[in-house]
Amino acid sequence: MSAAYPWQNDLWESLLSRVKTGHLPHALLFAGGKGLGKAQLAVQLAHTLLCQSPTDDGVPCGKCQACGLLVAGTHPDLRIIEPEEEGKVIPADTVRAVADFFALKGQYGGRQIVIINPAEAMNRFGANGLLKTLEEPTPDALLILVTSQPSLLLPTIRSRCQQEIFTRPDTTIGVNWLKDTLGSGAEVATIAPTLLALANGAPLEAVKLHEMGGLEVRQGLVEQWLRVVEGRGDPLKCAASWLDLGLPRAVNWLNSWTMDLIRLKSGAASDAITNTDLQPQFLKLAQKLDLRSLFGHLEQITEYSRWAGGQINAQLALEDIMISWARRSR
Ligand SMILES: [Zn+2]
Repeated sequence: MSAAYPWQNDLWESLLSRVKTGHLPHALLFAGGKGLGKAQLAVQLAHTLLCQSPTDDGVPCGKCQACGLLVAGTHPDLRIIEPEEEGKVIPADTVRAVADFFALKGQYGGRQIVIINPAEAMNRFGANGLLKTLEEPTPDALLILVTSQPSLLLPTIRSRCQQEIFTRPDTTIGVNWLKDTLGSGAEVATIAPTLLALANGAPLEAVKLHEMGGLEVRQGLVEQWLRVVEGRGDPLKCAASWLDLGLPRAVNWLNSWTMDLIRLKSGAASDAITNTDLQPQFLKLAQKLDLRSLFGHLEQITEYSRWAGGQINAQLALEDIMISWARRSR
């Protein structure tokens, strides 16, 4: 069985070999950028472990009772914990219930698996409740924490998990996968590299962008932002339109654009930027801004991106960012 996505093959092989040799730990931390398929691989691992007669290659049989329950999402020995809405907190009680879940024996006599996604959505109380489970795991327990912001987890949690780092695919692999996924066609072939670049090389994030209206939506937001930077737009209105994008994505884009402006300002060739389609606007803009203030913006954006997936007010964050751009343009 191959991994959930082509860029995960090595990691999948390594996990499978640990399963076969009995070296899979009780707690795994799947860490890496958003849109790399971490949660999907966690679910795939759970299916492989819970199937009653997987093949030698770790492929779930698809026929046993466990496989039936897994496909229906009702296997009693697998619990997937997620916030009710993206960006919301996972209630502490829900996390504390993990200990009770592991305290009962698995109903099918095999492993009991809990996936928490994203792990940074646990608050401190919830996370503390998990510590005991991590310190004294029951023999059949497997906890998989999924995170794109490992720095937001308690160090005591992080240090008790075996960390698996998910990396961005090679551009060719990413673009090819994107083309296959979005369907063939001249239009997809043209936009796939830009979508992937815009998603910071994370293919699933690129698909999401495409579904959200992709490059057209981006064009509208670029124009609003440019008006603010040039002192012609209302920063609060601009922040309000950016809100639909979600804070993590918004700071990613702003980060990528600011980096491009810094590159241009530092004398990089005009085609050496990530957002090549925005080159004409960026060349003009770079002339008007100074390097020091660009680094100031980058610092502010980086600071927000550290917290973007956690519990911060996205509207206030975006307003703060847009007001800074408006202010420095004067
Ligand atoms: Zn099966």
